[in-house]
Amino acid sequence: MEQQPKPRQWDWPLCQSCARPLIHPEHFGLNVDGSKNSDYCCICFQNGSFIDPGLTLEQMIEKVAEDMVNKVNMPKSSADILARAFITPLKRWNEGSDSSASNERK
Ligand SMILES: [Zn+2]
Repeated sequence: MEQQPKPRQWDWPLCQSCARPLIHPEHFGLNVDGSKNSDYCCICFQNGSFIDPGLTLEQMIEKVAEDMVNKVNMPKSSADILARAFITPLKRWNEGSDSSASNERK
């Protein structure tokens, strides 16, 4: 049998806001009580709340796509598609849109 390259395994969770892999404990955001938040990364979430609570899904996709363009030299059009595919299903963008109703804008 030939040695095969290991399939890429996602043994670590992804941030449920920006899809960054949460590999090291310091990647995780913190809750108000200082405990680790297992859903979100430290870039999105600190001290029990989102660092940028007003960020929209579209803005996040844009941010992450730009990041990919810079980091892996991906064409912007591909990065957009990939970022959208990764980020749209995440928890932050899918849980009760009603909960943000307190933040009404008219
Ligand atoms: Zn994040």
